[in-house]
Amino acid sequence: MSEILVLVDHAEGPEGVSVKKPTYEMLTLAARLGEPSAVFIGPKDQGSEVAAAVKKYGAGTVYVVDDEDLKGYLVAPKAEALQQVMEKSGQNGGPGAVLITSSAEGKEIAGRLAIKTESGLITDAVDVEAASGGGDSPATTQSVFAGNYTVKAKVTKGTPIITVKPNSTAPVESDGAGTVEEVSVTVSDAAKGAKIYKAEPRQATGRPELTEAAIIVSGGRGTGGKFEPVEDLADALGAAVGASRAAVDSGWKPHSYQIGQTGKTVSPQLYIAAGISGAIQHRAGMQTSKTIVAVNKDQEAPIFELVDFGVVGDLHTVLPALTEEVKQRKQ
Ligand code: FAD
Repeated sequence: MSEILVLVDHAEGPEGVSVKKPTYEMLTLAARLGEPSAVFIGPKDQGSEVAAAVKKYGAGTVYVVDDEDLKGYLVAPKAEALQQVMEKSGQNGGPGAVLITSSAEGKEIAGRLAIKTESGLITDAVDVEAASGGGDSPATTQSVFAGNYTVKAKVTKGTPIITVKPNSTAPVESDGAGTVEEVSVTVSDAAKGAKIYKAEPRQATGRPELTEAAIIVSGGRGTGGKFEPVEDLADALGAAVGASRAAVDSGWKPHSYQIGQTGKTVSPQLYIAAGISGAIQHRAGMQTSKTIVAVNKDQEAPIFELVDFGVVGDLHTVLPALTEEVKQRKQ
C-alpha cells in the first residue's frame, strides 16, 4: 500500500500548536487509500506533540519540517517544503496521494505543488474513495455549479493532489505508529519573494471557526438585525454563527460571516438557517451540509426545498424555545 501524505492543518498560539479537526478527517480518508502519514510544517520542538495527536488517527510516519526559515513568508515556501517531503516519501514508493485542507492557503499550496510535481489537482473534494476497477488514482466527489451537480473525478497524471473540504467525513480514531522523521528542506530565494510584514490576529469570538464548525446557526434578513436568538442558539449548541449576504449588506454582521457564492463554503454536520429565504447564491455555500434545518415564517420559502427539517414560524419565538430546550437537555 502506498503512503498517503496529509498536510497537518494547525493553529499556533501562546500555548503551542493545536492540530485542527480537518487533519483528523483527512487522515481518516487517507486510511481508505493507503498508509496515512502526516506532514507537519511548524516549530520543530512541537513535532512530538503533533505526532502524539495525529497517531491517534492512524498516522504512521510524521514528517516534521521546521518552519524557522519559512515563517513570515507567504505560501510558496510551504509548497517547496511539501514537494521535498513528497520526494522523500517517493524513495519508499509513495506517495499515492497528497491531501490538504480546502482553505484559501491549502488550495494555493496544492496548486503550486501540482505545478511543481507535474501532477493533477482536484480541489474542494467532499469525499475521497480508493480507486475501483484497477486505476491507481483515488476517486473524489465534488459538488459544483452552486451545488447543482455532483462530480466524480480522478487525477490522470502524476501524484493526485487533493484538497478536502472540512467536515467531509467524521474522524475515526485508529492506532498509528506516529514515528517522527525530521526533514530538512531548502527553500529557494524565489519562494521568499513575498514577505508578511504585519499580521494581526482576528478578535476571538470564543466560537468555532465557520469553515470548520460541525454545527452552524445562520441568520438572514428575517432577523431584522436582531442576531441574539441566532447567537444564543449557537452558543447553546457550541456552534459557529453565519449570515446571509442580505444580513451582511445590511451591516449586521461582517463579511467574514457570509455564507454563499461570494462568501464562505461550509459543510457542517448540522446547518440551521433562520430567516433566510434560500437563494441559489446562499445555497451554493451550504447545501452540502449533512443535515439542514430552516426556520422561516413563509412556508413557500425556497429554503424548504432542501431541508431535512423545516419549521414554519417566527424565528424570534422558535429559536429561543429551541435554545431553552437544548440547555435543559444538557443539564
Ligand atoms: P431574503 O431573501 O430577504 O429572505 C429573508 C427571509 O426571512 C424570507 O424568506 C422571509 O420569509 C424570512 N423571514 C422574515 N422575517 C422572519 C421571521 N421573523 N422569522 C422567520 N423568518 C422570517 N447571498 C448569500 O447569502 N450569500 C452569498 O454569497 C451571495 N452571493 C451573491 C452573489 C451574487 C452575484 C448575487 C447576485 C447575489 C448573491 N447573494 C448571496 C444574494 C442572494 O441572491 C439573496 O439576495 C440573499 O441570499 C438573501 O438573503 P436572505 O435570505 O437573508 O434575505
